[in-house]
Amino acid sequence: MPYEITVENFINGEFEQTPKYMDSPDPSTGEVWARIPDSGPEDIDRAVKAANDAFQKWSCTPEEQRSKLLLKVADLIDEHLEELACYESRDQGKPLWLARKMDIPRSSYNFRVFATSILNHIEKSHFQEQFETLNYTSRMAVGVAGLISPWNLPLYLLTFKIAPAIALGNTVVCKPSEMTSVTAWRLCGLLNEAGIPPGVVNMVFGTGARAGHALVIHPDVPLVSFTGSTATAEKIKTATASMNKKLSLELGGKNPALVFEDADLDKCIPEAARSCFTNQGEICLCTSRIFVHSSIFSRFVETFVDATRQIVVGDPRDPETKCGPLVSKEHWEKVTGYVQVALQEGSKIFCGESVDTLTLPEKNKNGYYVQPTVVTEVMDSSRLMQEEIFGPVVCIVPFQTEEEVIQRANNVKYGLSASVWTNDLARTHRVARKLQAGTVWCNCWLVRDLLMPFGGMKASGIGREGAQDSLEFFTEVKNICVKC
Ligand code: NAD
Repeated sequence: MPYEITVENFINGEFEQTPKYMDSPDPSTGEVWARIPDSGPEDIDRAVKAANDAFQKWSCTPEEQRSKLLLKVADLIDEHLEELACYESRDQGKPLWLARKMDIPRSSYNFRVFATSILNHIEKSHFQEQFETLNYTSRMAVGVAGLISPWNLPLYLLTFKIAPAIALGNTVVCKPSEMTSVTAWRLCGLLNEAGIPPGVVNMVFGTGARAGHALVIHPDVPLVSFTGSTATAEKIKTATASMNKKLSLELGGKNPALVFEDADLDKCIPEAARSCFTNQGEICLCTSRIFVHSSIFSRFVETFVDATRQIVVGDPRDPETKCGPLVSKEHWEKVTGYVQVALQEGSKIFCGESVDTLTLPEKNKNGYYVQPTVVTEVMDSSRLMQEEIFGPVVCIVPFQTEEEVIQRANNVKYGLSASVWTNDLARTHRVARKLQAGTVWCNCWLVRDLLMPFGGMKASGIGREGAQDSLEFFTEVKNICVKC
C-alpha cells in the first residue's frame, strides 16, 4: 500500500526506521494515509539513554542560550505553518482553517512563552537575623522527562510540555498519541534545523500499552507529564506508585455552562455553541452540559438549536466546514453510542438524530462524521450528564436557583473547567468561587493566558501547567542556607 507519510522515531537527533509499523487512517475518508512505528520498550530504552547522555550538558547550558534556541524553534514553526496545519488537519480531522488559526500558532507561542518566562524568574531569599543566616532558593532541572500527549490537539499540547521541560534544562522522551503522530515527527526536523542539540528531545511513536507504559515505568525517567483520559491516568498512577516519580496529570472533563436569566443571549449563544462544537467537541475544555435558567430556557434552546443547525459538517479542507470528522471509527462508535442512550432514555434530540441526515461529499462518505447534536429532557443522573463524551453532543437542562445550579454543576466526578454567563458582577464572582473547576470562564470561553495556572480538580487531574506552575513541576527546588 502506498503511504504518503512514513513516520520515524527520532532518537539522539537522528531519524530511525523501525521493524514494525501501524497504519494511520485519514478520519475524513477512513483511508490509510500514513504509517507510524509500533515501538516497544527497547526503543524507549535507547531514547532515555540518549536523553540522559544529553542532560549533563543541556542542563548546564546558560538560560539565555536555551531561550534563543527555543525562539528559533518558534520561528521555524511559524515558517512551516501551512505544512504543519495540513498535516494536523489530515491526521486529526479538524478543519484546516482551525489548525491554521489555533493549533499551529499556539504551538509556536508555547515555545515563545517559555523561552521568555525562564529569563524573568526571580528566586526567593530570606535573612534570619537570629542566626545571621541568608537563605535562598535555587532550582535545578530534574532529568529526563517522559511526555505523553493525546490526539485532540496534537502539536498544541505536546509543545506545551516540550517547551517548558527543555527551557528549564531537562531533556525529554515524548510519546505522542498513536492516532496523530505526524506533526510531532515533522517537529523533530525543525528541532534539528533550529540547532537543539541531539538527545535533548527524543520522540518515540507507538501505542500507549507498549511504548507509553515502557516510558512511564522507566527507572531513569523521574518525571512524567501526561495529558489524556482519566482511565489511562489511573493505569499510570498504579504502574508508578512505588517509584516516587513527579507526576503531572491533565485529564478529562464534563464541563458545565451556567446561563443565568440576565445573560446577554446574543453574545452567549454563539459563544456557547462554539464552546460545545469547536474541534468536533474534541477539546477537554468543551462544554457538554448547559444549565439554563428556567425563565429563558425555551428561548435559549430554540436559538441554540438554530445556531447548531447552521454548523457545516464536511471535508476538513473546505473553508466552509466548521465540524470535521471524529478522530477514529472507535471514537465515532463511542460518541454515537451516547446518542443511542439518549434515544433509549426518551430524551429529546435536536439535530444528529441520525448520521443519514448528513450531506457529505462522495469522498467523505466513509469518514467518521457526527452531526452536532443537542439533547434536552435528560436527567442529571444519565450517563450523558455524567460521563465525558468528547464529541459534538451537548445536553441542555433548566434550573431554578443559583444554589441549585452550583450543586448540580459540581455533581460529577470531573472538575476541569466551567463557564458562567451573567451580567451581574457580584454573582459572577460568587458562583465562580463555588464551582469545582480548575478554570472558570465568565462571559467567554477558551481565552487562555499561559502565565496563569491550568489544570483540573477531582478526576480531571493533578497539578497545574503554565509559566509558574510548569517551572515548579519541571525543576527541583532547594533551600541554601549560608551563615554570614
Ligand atoms: P488516552 O488516555 O487514551 O491517551 C493519551 C496518551 O496516553 C496517548 O499517547 C496514549 O498512547 C497514551 N497511553 C495510553 N495508555 C497508556 C499507558 N498504559 N501508559 C502510558 N501511556 C498510555 O487519551 P486520548 O483518547 O488520546 O485523549 C482524550 C482524553 O484526553 C480525553 O479524556 C480528554 O479530556 C483528555 N484531554 C485532557 C486535556 C487536559 O488538558 N486536561 C487536554 C486534552 C485532552
